[in-house]
Amino acid sequence: MFQKILIANRGEIACRVAATARRMSLRTVAVYSDADAHARHVADCDEAVHIGASPARESYLCWERIIEAAKATGAQAIHPGYGFLSENEAFAQACTEAGLVFIGPPASAIQAMGLKAAAKQLMERAGVPLVPGYHGADQDPELLLREATRIGFPVLIKASAGGGGRGMRAVDKAEDFLAALAACQREAKGAFGDDAVLIEKYVQRPRHIEVQVFGDVHGHCVSLFERDCSVQRRHQKVLEEAPAPGLSDAMRRRMGEAAVAAARAVNYVGAGTVEFIVEQRGQGEMDFFFMEMNTRLQVEHPVTEAITGLDLVEWQIRVARGEALPLQQHQLRMHGHAIEARICAENPDKNFLPAAGTLQVYRTPPCVAFLPPGEPVRSQPIRIDSGVREGDQISPFYDSMIGKLIVHGDTREQALARLDEALGQMHIVGLNTNVQFLRYVVRSDAFSQSDLDTALIQREKAAVFKQEPVGLPMAAAIAVAQALLEEERSHEAQNGDTRGFAFEFGGAHAQATLTVLRDGGLRLAVGGTSGALEFQQAGDAIDVRFNGERTLAHVYTAGTTRHVFTPRGAARITALEEVSEGEVVHPHP
Ligand code: ADP
Ligand code: ADP
Ligand code: MG
Repeated sequence: MFQKILIANRGEIACRVAATARRMSLRTVAVYSDADAHARHVADCDEAVHIGASPARESYLCWERIIEAAKATGAQAIHPGYGFLSENEAFAQACTEAGLVFIGPPASAIQAMGLKAAAKQLMERAGVPLVPGYHGADQDPELLLREATRIGFPVLIKASAGGGGRGMRAVDKAEDFLAALAACQREAKGAFGDDAVLIEKYVQRPRHIEVQVFGDVHGHCVSLFERDCSVQRRHQKVLEEAPAPGLSDAMRRRMGEAAVAAARAVNYVGAGTVEFIVEQRGQGEMDFFFMEMNTRLQVEHPVTEAITGLDLVEWQIRVARGEALPLQQHQLRMHGHAIEARICAENPDKNFLPAAGTLQVYRTPPCVAFLPPGEPVRSQPIRIDSGVREGDQISPFYDSMIGKLIVHGDTREQALARLDEALGQMHIVGLNTNVQFLRYVVRSDAFSQSDLDTALIQREKAAVFKQEPVGLPMAAAIAVAQALLEEERSHEAQNGDTRGFAFEFGGAHAQATLTVLRDGGLRLAVGGTSGALEFQQAGDAIDVRFNGERTLAHVYTAGTTRHVFTPRGAARITALEEVSEGEVVHPHP
């Protein structure tokens, strides 16, 4: 039995674990690097220990220091979160040897599933369906080429030690195989210190469907149903949902049983995820094949929590204490539909280039953070798990994910509408994020019609990249309205019947002309349109009418920039300044 847990992680997952620990009246210890000295996860825990410099290999991956920190603070258990040390069997072993409870599976199970090739050999023996492929020990290039030819092109070369979507290469034809193999081996050696590869048939238009499993030390093992994580970019998940659209009860049962068989084959204890690649054969027919097992809590675990009403971190802690699983398979039920969107600091239009900077504005829709104490997630349909607060720095040292937005609805349609609306209420200023991109993906025909596969983003690229949700006229009308309200507040109201504004929008210069009419009304001319401008403050938003349109906008001012958020999407007016009469370009009458 333990009363104090050290959380060997950072960001949203460290905060997530701390929330459940607090609810279970357990004390918590955070660890942090230089860059995270003022991070939210440090504030969320009862105590915190500095473990090193900002790069992960000098802090969050230094397991000797983490074990020392546990001993120094009297923590009796360690929760590894995901990423970092969560799937490191040497760390799990070292915890046990130091007399600490590792809140995760036994080191032997981590090891058995750690290398994809060895895991597939094991799964083959356990009767779990595998993607046709080669996962032998012999790595002779000529043999690998013969195997690839036998499997049939296109094939996928995968680093056996790979993870996080890295170390994979698709090859279309035999002539390209040896060069791709060499590149993949180099990449694998560099990223994972191990150049062993396996080869798989490249499944066309596949879906990624994974099953959440849970085992305990008393020999119980259950499936907590599936998650569909087909919407990916560069083999990394973007949107995840549960249950998987269109999956029949019979398929769900078969996949659940296969996942439990996979977990049982390695005497699994705790939370784990068995990932399957699903080949669609038309008319709702699907074949599923084992891809890998992740021996940890998964980033997307909240969608499972939302449809089951369970707290998976609580289950992890109870299992680690030696308790039996709280529920048996026949007691588990799914309710409604949940979708998670990963909010990342990145620029989708620049090939998802990670972004860093200060969260000058960080506003979210009304939501719960992590799990509401003692009540099912369903009571509040929007949940945000994040490890940041307004004013925090997003550093370039770690993963670009700043949080997750999870919505629940009675139906997929309802969850989808909620997700779109909630994304529209995520107001982030200070760095680039994928929020707007996510909205386009959510609204795309393919996603809304559940036409899912791993190439969805690629197929919908014309609709999801380089979009402009708010056009120049409305963006300018909102920015000018906001500027006028600010003037009013500072009693600087300027008189004069015609005023000109210059600014930049979408990388181009633009101008607007505002005319005060005799009756006191306003007329705005911008971007080829001209019409009455009306606005009024409405709480912390402004209600703007222009050009036959009405919108409720939130505007954040940073110097001469106005960050505009409307229900349709965000826009930015930069370098806004008033120009003198001589510089005003009058609109055509
Ligand atoms: P999930 O299915 O939980 O979303 P991901 O593949 O997205 O799993 O990985 C979760 C986190 O762990 C991410 O931050 C990812 O970058 C990191 N990660 C996973 N595997 C590895 C690995 N082998 N090496 C480095 N980072 C990894
Ligand atoms: P990682 O450890 O990086 O998560 P996975 O083996 O789980 O690696 O594969 C990551 C993603 O790559 C999958 O979710 C899927 O989109 C794609 N993928 C993996 N195997 C195949 C395959 N055989 N055919 C087509 N796509 C695949
Ligand atoms: Mg995977």
